[in-house]
Formats: sequence, C-alpha cells, structure tokens
Amino acid sequence: MEIETIAAISTPIGEGAISIVRLSGPEAVEIANGLFGGKDLLQVDSHTIHYGKLIDPETKEIAEEVMISVMRAPKTFTREDIVEINTHGGIVAVNRVLEMVLESGARLAEPGEFTKRAFLNGRIDLSQAEAVMDLIRAKTDKAMGVALRQMDGRLSHLIKKYRQELLETIAHVEVNIDYPEYDDVEEMSHTLMREKTKKVANEIEQLLQVAKQGKILREGLSTAIIGRPNVGKSSLMNTLVQENKAIVTDVPGTTRDIIEEYVSVRGVPLRLVDTAGIRETEDIVEKIGVERSRKVLMESDLILFVLNNNEVLTEDDKNLFEAVKGLEYIVIINKTDLNQKLSLAEVKKLAENKPIITTSLIQEEGIEELEKAIADTFFAGDIDTGDMTYVSNARHIQLLKQAKQALLDASRSLELGMPLDIVQIDVTRTWELLGEIIGDTASDALIDQLFSQFCLGK
Ligand code: GDP
Ligand code: ZN
Repeated sequence: MEIETIAAISTPIGEGAISIVRLSGPEAVEIANGLFGGKDLLQVDSHTIHYGKLIDPETKEIAEEVMISVMRAPKTFTREDIVEINTHGGIVAVNRVLEMVLESGARLAEPGEFTKRAFLNGRIDLSQAEAVMDLIRAKTDKAMGVALRQMDGRLSHLIKKYRQELLETIAHVEVNIDYPEYDDVEEMSHTLMREKTKKVANEIEQLLQVAKQGKILREGLSTAIIGRPNVGKSSLMNTLVQENKAIVTDVPGTTRDIIEEYVSVRGVPLRLVDTAGIRETEDIVEKIGVERSRKVLMESDLILFVLNNNEVLTEDDKNLFEAVKGLEYIVIINKTDLNQKLSLAEVKKLAENKPIITTSLIQEEGIEELEKAIADTFFAGDIDTGDMTYVSNARHIQLLKQAKQALLDASRSLELGMPLDIVQIDVTRTWELLGEIIGDTASDALIDQLFSQFCLGK
C-alpha cells in the first residue's frame, strides 16, 4: 500500500505566537517545496530551517511568511520525512497554510496519526505513545514528569525485564517437558517457577501501588469539604484556592457556581469537587440521611471534615463522623481564635486515629499543618517522583492487574502440585498481557482505538 503524506496543525489552536503545520510522509518535502518561494528545499540538508514566503499556487500571490524545517527520514519522530511550516499565530493564517498543503496532495491526518506512525515504524513503543497522549493531558508539573519518564521508556524497560524473566522460566519448563526423564530438571523447574512467579508478582504489585499515586497526580485527588453550616467550609475552600496556584478553573455562568477547582498542595493536585453537592455538604446528612451521604462521600479520595472550635459537638457532627467512618479524611477544628467549647477528647475518640488539625482560617493559622497533612495522607511526606516509575494509564493498570492475577493463579497451581505444563499456561498468559502494554501482542483493533483518542496533529 502506498504511504500517504499526512498533514495537520500541530500546535494548540489559538494559543502561542507561532503555529505549526506538520507534514509527514514520502511527499512531505516535495509538497512544501511546491509552495515555497525560497530556496529549493529538495536540496537542503536534513534538520535545517529556512525562512521564506509561501506562494498561493492558484493566485500566485504571497500568502504567508514562514519558517520551514526539513527533517529527512529516518531520524524523525515518525521515521518518515517531516516538514514543519512555522507561521505567525492566528487561526486564519495557519488554516490557510494547512489548506494549501492539502490542496497540494497531503491528506489531513487523523487524530494521533503522527504518533501512530512513530509506533508502527518502530520509533516508539505503545506505552511511550500513550505517554505522549498523557503528556498532552497532564495537568501539573509532576504529572508531566511521570508522562515524560514513561515516554523515555522507563515503564517499557521494566515490562521488558519482567517478560524476559518469564520467558526464561517458560524456556526452562519446555526443556523439562522435552526431557521428562531428568528428575532434577523437573525439581529445578518447579523451584525456578515458584521463585520467578513470586518475584514478578511482587514487582507488579509495587507498580500497582504507586499507580494509585500516579492516578492522583494525573487526575487530581477528588476532595470534599464537609461540615455543618458556618463552620468555615467556604473559607477553607477560598484559602486553599488562594494559597495554591489554581490549575484549572471551570466557571460556568456565575462565579458562585464553581463546579471544580484544581489546586496543587505540595505537588498533590486536589480536585475540589462540587458534584451532587459534594463540595459543600452542610446539610446532606439532614437531606439524604447518613447512608446515602456516605455513598456520595465514598466517591471522594479525600474528605476535609470541618468542625467549629467555638461550639460543642452536635448530633449533626456525630452523624458526619458516622458517614465518614473508614474513609480517608482529615478533621479540621476551625475558629481556634474563639473560645474553646469543643471537647478535643471527644473528637479524638470519634476520629479513628485520623489527623486532627486546628486552624483559624480568619487569622490564617494552621494552614501549613493542614497542607502537610493532606500531602502526608497520600504520599507520606513531600513526594519525589524522580526515582519512581509511575504507571498512570488506565489500560496499563488494567493489564498489570490481570498479569498479577495470572501469576497468582500460577502460584496456586504450583502449590496444588499441578503439572508444570498447566502452570506454564498462566505464565505464558502473563507474558502476553505484559506484551500488550508495550504493544508487542496488541491487536490492530486495539491500536486503532488507542490512537484515535489522540488530539489532532499529534
Ligand atoms: P460555611 O458555612 O461552613 O461555608 O462557613 P463559612 O466559610 O461561610 O464561614 C462562616 C463564618 O465563619 C463566616 O463569617 C466566616 O468569616 C467565619 N469564619 C471562618 N473561619 C473562621 C475562623 O477561623 N475564625 C472565626 N472567628 N471566624 C471564622
Ligand atoms: Zn459555605
């Protein structure tokens, strides 16, 4: 099949002073050259950039001032010839350039098609391709770091290592099956199999544990602020938003109707949510009862439960303690600038060893401690993603869970004294599942579906 040359706008629409139209494929240089009024691009060195004007082939008029980068295969992102036409920003200009290259024979790229070509041409593996997608969506610096590391292949490297170990075990068992008369081989195969399945299962489990943190880094910790009326929930929300750089703010209609507020507390992105009244649930217990409010609260990763230092504990407070039982929460005793009427001993008894922080939001006291407690809840202190490989992609996590399960099945069969060739089925299955993460054993349909999720122009 003939390879088409594809083109798309590869910079975010409407952002930045420069927009880029990117072409990839065998005709990329020729198409650009046909429009370019500068030097002959067919003659220039690879990986060079050239200033000139684009001439509209129909009107023969100068259309745009541009800088054109020429990058010849194979040392390019897609391993095909790539041309990038840099124009001055503005949707009209960049669209006009795109239109001209499409009229000259390029085809509009499908979403993710550049990255897909990079994958199909062996430039990157599937987990790296997905990292490109995660990078586009990354909301905080740390999440960005995770995606970047995945892109440079850390996860792939680990997965390949596990697969290699499993493959060696499988090979060993093959020998055993081929030469059943050697008793010691059988013995060794059993031992090896038991050791390897346990080791790899443990390592996968570790990956899965940090994956939970990875998810939080990517999507934010969904956080509910609860408490009776007037304890200081709105004040807390405002304090968190003001103290910490808001990352994304969705403000549909009025400013009072904030749906989600993203803040980054010591590198932990919090998504303060207000779905179904989660954010401010002053009367949810009253309105919908303990049972149902508990269900709502269970959807949050973290609950900030505010009490008033200046009042004795009420029935409503106790109901809220009931509703958050066993969930992840921090108790905040607010208004410490006022007389203490709340019994700390009583709170401690109800709070199941959860952190209890005292604040005076009005005097800006206790906020540091609260932020530390929030970070501690999930990361045992300030996190450093530097030396950890996070798995943050839902598909990878799913496959890792299945792989771990297959290994546990293998272990159980071993314990039950099942024959090795039965155990081997589970180990082979694990090997395949891990292969799907890096795209070794992934089906075409899966690959198509994955790449279609990309932004246009990537
Ligand atoms: P919410 O109903 O739980 O959202 O509470 P608000 O945040 O609206 O606060 C209720 C009232 O308590 C407001 O008048 C706040 O100014 C006041 N308030 C909040 N935090 C403090 C505090 O630490 N000390 C004192 N004295 N008042 C506070
Ligand atoms: Zn309020």
